[in-house]
Amino acid sequence: MLGALADQGLEMTDDPSLAEVIIVNTCGFIESAAQESIDEILTLAEFKKSGSCRRIIVTGCLPERYREAIADSLPEVDMFLGTGAYHQITEALRRTDFGAPCLLPAPYALPLQDCQTGRTLTTASFAYLKVSEGCDRHCTYCVIPRLRGKLRSRTPEDAVLEARRLISQGMNEIIIIGQDTGAYGSDLRPPASLSRLLSDVAGISKDVWVRFLYGSPDTTDDALIQTVAAHDNICAYFDIPMQHAAKSVLKRMGRNYDSADLLRLIDRIRQVIPDAAIRTTMLVGFPGETDQDFKELLKFAETVRFDHLGAFIYSDADDLPSHRLASHVPKKIAKERHHALMTAQSRWSEMNNQKYVGQTIRVLVEEEMEDGLYAGRAWFQAPEVDGIIYIDAPVDKNADRVGNFLNVRITDALEYDLRGEAV
Ligand code: SF4
Repeated sequence: MLGALADQGLEMTDDPSLAEVIIVNTCGFIESAAQESIDEILTLAEFKKSGSCRRIIVTGCLPERYREAIADSLPEVDMFLGTGAYHQITEALRRTDFGAPCLLPAPYALPLQDCQTGRTLTTASFAYLKVSEGCDRHCTYCVIPRLRGKLRSRTPEDAVLEARRLISQGMNEIIIIGQDTGAYGSDLRPPASLSRLLSDVAGISKDVWVRFLYGSPDTTDDALIQTVAAHDNICAYFDIPMQHAAKSVLKRMGRNYDSADLLRLIDRIRQVIPDAAIRTTMLVGFPGETDQDFKELLKFAETVRFDHLGAFIYSDADDLPSHRLASHVPKKIAKERHHALMTAQSRWSEMNNQKYVGQTIRVLVEEEMEDGLYAGRAWFQAPEVDGIIYIDAPVDKNADRVGNFLNVRITDALEYDLRGEAV
């Protein structure tokens, strides 16, 4: 959307009091995300009274999921664009005569973005490269396939072309994403694979990191692990959302594996790449989850000692198949389980972080926080979701550090973050 707006010569501002049009791109995946989106819309709607704002446009998964009902409940909004209508953003800025406030064409009818699609980068050091849309799975708690449609992959040639362009624009890390990134290419004829794509992107420049997010246990196969092992510039970082460890819970979630499969996979990764960083996501309080199931999950996480673990509390909604399952877990118990898991993880994370103290690590600098203090990430940290590295560096007005690599000697391990000094 930013690329399309920039193509029209429109000027962006991140100060809402100056904006003539405010665009809120929303998430509607879980209840708390939908609520956060609604709160933000209501806050920004105030600028219609006090600022220059003449129109508020809401895009993304919130209107896609809640359809016309959301339009009725948010009269402050002038136009809603579902996930299949984001390309109509420039028209939505100018036109008032769409006939309906909600544009909701089928998401899968929209052509995939390709390397010709205009983009405006908002990050200094890394860029996401979206290689597919949609998901063919049927996890019972997930609305994404309905919002995004079936898996559709870009061709490897097109994805590599865009990666080249991003690197030539100065990006030092390419992060490959999709809703089910591990399944990339299985819908193409002839099929393509994530491991081949990773190796092609990694081959563009040895100095640029390549990372992928949103794998899955069944697509993290030996070919993928060996590809990561064979390239120094592919981050040995495996993001594998597992959601649970108890067999009966996984079965009700529609996830086709058990804890023995997961332990075998983790052993295999660590056998091939001993210092690989493994990230996972867990879902607690799923319908039918017993105390015993939760203990099993806690024990599993303790056995594995994930480098990074994010936990979510099950979010119920009547448009999900999991809504119809028996024995919903009371919110209070789900919150207690979430707290127990995250408290244990913060302890394990701090212990794990100790191993970096004294090491000199290559860090991609992302931000100057104040004079002499920067924030950056190492290969074992993805943006937004993992910890960061605080870097003390001598003040030097001529140093071009943000967006570039810096060697950092780690001096301190915090709960999730690290601290070090530039060397
Ligand atoms: S694999 Fe991910 S996106 Fe696909 S249905 Fe399951 S949770 Fe949703």
